[in-house]
Amino acid sequence: MKVYNFSAGPSMLADEVKLAAQRDFLDYNGSGMSVTEMSHRSKYFDDINNEANSLLKELMNLNDDYYVLFVQGGASTQFEAVPLNLLQKGKADYIVTGNFSGKAAKEAVKYGDCQVVATSKDKNFTYIPDVDKINFRDDIDYVHLTSNNTIFGTRYTKFPTPNAPLVADMSSNILSEVIDFNKFDLIYAGAQKNIAPAGVTIVIVKKNLVENPMAICPTMLKYKTQADANSLYNTPPCFAIYMAMLTFRWLKRIGGIPAIQEINEYKAGLLYDYIDNSKLFSNPVAVKDRSIMNVPFVTPDPELDAKFVKEASAAGLVSLKGHRLVGGMRASIYNAMPVEGVKTLIEFMKKFELENK
Ligand SMILES: *Cc1c(COP(=O)(O)O)cnc(C)c1O
Repeated sequence: MKVYNFSAGPSMLADEVKLAAQRDFLDYNGSGMSVTEMSHRSKYFDDINNEANSLLKELMNLNDDYYVLFVQGGASTQFEAVPLNLLQKGKADYIVTGNFSGKAAKEAVKYGDCQVVATSKDKNFTYIPDVDKINFRDDIDYVHLTSNNTIFGTRYTKFPTPNAPLVADMSSNILSEVIDFNKFDLIYAGAQKNIAPAGVTIVIVKKNLVENPMAICPTMLKYKTQADANSLYNTPPCFAIYMAMLTFRWLKRIGGIPAIQEINEYKAGLLYDYIDNSKLFSNPVAVKDRSIMNVPFVTPDPELDAKFVKEASAAGLVSLKGHRLVGGMRASIYNAMPVEGVKTLIEFMKKFELENK
């Protein structure tokens, strides 16, 4: 049965990417070996690592001021790596717009005077605070935010311009829409939402920010360690980096971020339009702040929500159960979710609405 997977992560990969990996799996490029079993010091892997790196820079239009690093530990490890590398004066400001940004702020507190200067907690994270009204403190080392809130389904459409380096967790919307990435000083993202299988974490950091980590920063968390070694200080997540390279090739072939943005906006538009006109389903998020990657929705009745998730799953629309913090449903419609998947979901929702009014 054809299944559409709406999981928030790990999530769908493009068929083209999976087929290329399948073709290469036993014998990568005539090496007689799988990427899963070859030395990370081999010429084969070196080429993969370099191509992944340069394709990502090209897709994101990054200038030469940045290091692109492939590291391990997930985005969650970056919650600690960021303060450990960037705190010099010992002060940073955090914007908390959901679960992950809250976790990031909580880790940072251990390493310095890190404070939450804006939050949307008052309305259960259903909006993004007005970035022009945030009072950042003086003498801070950086501002941290989460560009797309995977659980609550919000995203920034405008970013603050503080008088300090800007750091963003872009785990759930990197490469999904055109953003001027050069306005950020540090971007990180776990790959398993929009890029590759779990295992690799992308860190994009301004070269001038890696020189003065805190003395207690572990060697493995120092950006400088991996920057000096082209992400090969120790064994990297080779296969995940290879899969990322295939995704970058796919994205480039279809027209890069502008092309995928158009598709993403179309998909999200279809789904929000239907939800907004539905008498059964609703989405709680402020319209201007809606994510185009993660779309939460509910019926008025938690039992009906459970029924929906169960019947959708039986119909091949899987992993639609909402996060335990918000309940209801969530459709994650990342880059690799085809338009057809979203249309099939909407048809199913219509049918469910008719049957359950
Ligand atoms: C999934 C997610 C994380 C956690 O990523 P891990 O790689 O599991 O540590 C952090 N931030 C955001 C925005 C996410 O969507």
